Amino acid sequence: MSTGPRGQTGPAFVPLARPDMGDAELSALAEVMASGWLTTGPKVKAFEAAFAQFTGAPEAVALNSCTAGLHLSLLACGVGPGDQVLTSPLTFCATANTVLHAGGTPVFVDVDRDTGTMDPGATAAAVSERTRVLLPVHYAGRPADPLAFRALADARGLRLVEDAAHCIDARVDGRRIGTIADFTAFSFYSTKNLATGEGGMVTTASSEDADWMRVAALHGLSRNAWARYAPGAPAQYDVEMPGYKYNMMDLQAALGLVQLSRLEQMQAHREALWARYEAGVVGLPLVRPAPLPAGWTHARHLYTVLVDPAHCGWTRDALQVALAREGIGTSVHFRALHLHTYYAQRFGLARGMFPNAEYHSDHSLSLPFWSGMPLADVDRVIETLDRLLAAAP
Ligand SMILES: *Cc1c(COP(=O)(O)O)cnc(C)c1O
Repeated sequence: MSTGPRGQTGPAFVPLARPDMGDAELSALAEVMASGWLTTGPKVKAFEAAFAQFTGAPEAVALNSCTAGLHLSLLACGVGPGDQVLTSPLTFCATANTVLHAGGTPVFVDVDRDTGTMDPGATAAAVSERTRVLLPVHYAGRPADPLAFRALADARGLRLVEDAAHCIDARVDGRRIGTIADFTAFSFYSTKNLATGEGGMVTTASSEDADWMRVAALHGLSRNAWARYAPGAPAQYDVEMPGYKYNMMDLQAALGLVQLSRLEQMQAHREALWARYEAGVVGLPLVRPAPLPAGWTHARHLYTVLVDPAHCGWTRDALQVALAREGIGTSVHFRALHLHTYYAQRFGLARGMFPNAEYHSDHSLSLPFWSGMPLADVDRVIETLDRLLAAAP
């Protein structure tokens, strides 16, 4: 028992997620603070090298967000006015927003009803003369069939960019996420499996594109002058292009290096939490995450169930409110983008156009899940769900 969010006494609040930070992260931050160099410098270089080694990608470019990574990836693919990018409506708005930032047009393709990931068959049918890039999203940590999208991109002369904000550690038939697409964008936002507060990374096999990205991420300063942002740099610089301010700080990279060294342990705990949820939810009238094909692994970012009134008598929204009253935090991943005002109005989209994405949008509920979460908290969530679902709302 402890003091709850409103000061009342009761079981402690079970949050949806928290950053999993410990003493090692604290001392890594203190070391950077004491070094006198806070922004892009040696820690960023070391984090890029460690991340490239971790994924097996030839190049890793550290940025201040996954959003920045998606934007620069699309620009590196040459996306501009008139170009279409095929993407999932079941994602965070950043995925489609960055297509617009690049000057292109996002075109939504419905997801698979079971997995929530963009359907390769529907994607092939949506390719037009104006399509330039495929942008699938690895939903909740489940790979969005990247080998199918790679084959489609190659067959149709398209580029492949993956939104891997949810998918830092997954494999498909022995190939790691980060080594399949032309560009793979990862997020280190506070709630993600590896957190630096804000932060992101793009992996690519092209050193030319990686070099361009590093210049574009720092005002467009020439590679040579870029060193100005590192200790002992030359005073002169040259502007090659009107770049962006997308660089990662050493403060973030120091956190990232520690988190990366702990990732295997953190992922193992997510695996244990996942198994405990699966064992509990199997006895409830909820739809569990779809099983994976043999030879695939899942990054275990979110444990998301589907709350279908036809099965359990509850709407997702009513169950979410009831859980919040019981001190259990949940979230919706995601309200489909075509149901948001901007996308609906700008592109003339409406309910009914992407029925599978709408099914997830209406019914999905992400339960508390983070790498520092006690296993006992899963039991508390399951017991609460069991009690609530046994009674009509
Ligand atoms: C978190 C997230 C992003 C954006 O990541 P940032 O690092 O916050 O920019 C993009 N796509 C998806 C699917 C996400 O969940």
